[in-house]
Amino acid sequence: MENNDFWRGIILYGINAATYKMALGKTLLMLADRGSAVVRWEDLSREFLQQYLNRLGQGNRPQQANPSRKTKMERIVTRFLGGAIHLDQAVQVVAREGFEDVIPRFQTIGTDKEIVAERFYEFDFGKKLILKDATFSLAKEYRGELLEELEARWSLLEGAFIIHQGQSQLANDVRETYLLQGYARTNLTQNIPFLQAYQGNVCFYCSEKMTHPDVHVDHVLPRQIVFHDEIWNLVLCHSTCNLLKSDKLVPEHYVMKLVARNENIMGSNHPWKNKISRQLGERPQERSAALGRHYANITAVLGPYYWGGVQGYVPANDPFYRRLITRLNNRG
Ligand SMILES: [Zn+2]
Repeated sequence: MENNDFWRGIILYGINAATYKMALGKTLLMLADRGSAVVRWEDLSREFLQQYLNRLGQGNRPQQANPSRKTKMERIVTRFLGGAIHLDQAVQVVAREGFEDVIPRFQTIGTDKEIVAERFYEFDFGKKLILKDATFSLAKEYRGELLEELEARWSLLEGAFIIHQGQSQLANDVRETYLLQGYARTNLTQNIPFLQAYQGNVCFYCSEKMTHPDVHVDHVLPRQIVFHDEIWNLVLCHSTCNLLKSDKLVPEHYVMKLVARNENIMGSNHPWKNKISRQLGERPQERSAALGRHYANITAVLGPYYWGGVQGYVPANDPFYRRLITRLNNRG
């Protein structure tokens, strides 16, 4: 067998209960690029952390099969991105806690610990990693290909974990919480004139003009999960856009637009203002944070059941959205 076969054996076979093999695979290829065989534990930790930052910096994705737990790396990245620790502190935590299940276990295919042992590296745990010739020659010959494969495999695992998460206790708990708060469906069409006053006569999802009677009232966060018809979650849209969106998760920019639309209502003296204030908070930051929490809940339930938005719609080019934001800024 070639080095390449051993490498693929590690990456592609066996049950992956977490994504750490993908992260370490990428880390090894990156370290090999630097050309030096002896790698300080701190440099190893920094590169390994960087792989998770690249991955998780784009959004929260589950890194292991058990949805009620987070991996050590997820917890470290969350603390760093949340500002609880500096980068150097994060690197130190990775160095101390990040590798117990990772470095000693990487060089196995399935349950076979002998066949690839020390083929790609040796280590003195907590002190240094020594890259072997096999790693340098792989990195030289197949770098691009192997990185792509690792990336694809990583996405595949996350996808599998998300689907698992969709059936998890967490998702059930979220559904139940909203169900308990829920109440009967009201006649939504009565809200149309009111919503038009704050949204204009343009579709929330595509920003094109709407013509009566093609004006639908839609729940931005799907009603089948929130179980309510609160005005802060209702928008107007074309029937076609409504059909496309259905009860799926929307991109975050629509939630930000919803925040701006709600603030437009809060800037008026409409009686709904008090209701929104009671439900989402008294200050703009509280309201925005409350909507963010709802969105995170919905994301936990819907996961990959996602709609990317109307094709060609760019929030920055949406004249109505721009007016909303200008108005908010002028209000200071
Ligand atoms: Zn539309």
